[in-house]
Amino acid sequence: MSQTEKWGDACFYCDECGVQFRTPFYTISSQKERTEFYDGGRLPEIAVSRSESVATCCSYQCLEKQREKILAAENIRPNYPGIGPTESCGRCGGEVITEQFHRTWVEEVAECQWEPDLGNIRPIEVTTLAVLCAECSLTPIANK
Ligand SMILES: [Zn+2]
Ligand SMILES: [Zn+2]
Repeated sequence: MSQTEKWGDACFYCDECGVQFRTPFYTISSQKERTEFYDGGRLPEIAVSRSESVATCCSYQCLEKQREKILAAENIRPNYPGIGPTESCGRCGGEVITEQFHRTWVEEVAECQWEPDLGNIRPIEVTTLAVLCAECSLTPIANK
């Protein structure tokens, strides 16, 4: 039995090279989120309202190619922002107030447990590529 038959649909398909794979996986997603800042030394927390996966890849090499295409289509330059309270927009360079809901572009490496059921996804590394200002956050995602 080939690996493909054994897995059935319980696997990912790389958006870049089309190969079937299970773990680890590399994704690019766009999230609507805001950062909550607290007084008294409590660490800020990020509240995500919506996350859309834009690409899933089998390897870091494939992820890099997808990243280049997606960010070019979005007209975004990655500037690896912090959590605020103010950052600059990856598209227009304008001010992003992270306490207000805004769009972020995030790259993630995660391990995925498929047995017995898919559900156990453990992030290994999460990188914020860019944040967008209020105006740029309103633009729908390209190629979706
Ligand atoms: Zn691939
Ligand atoms: Zn902007």
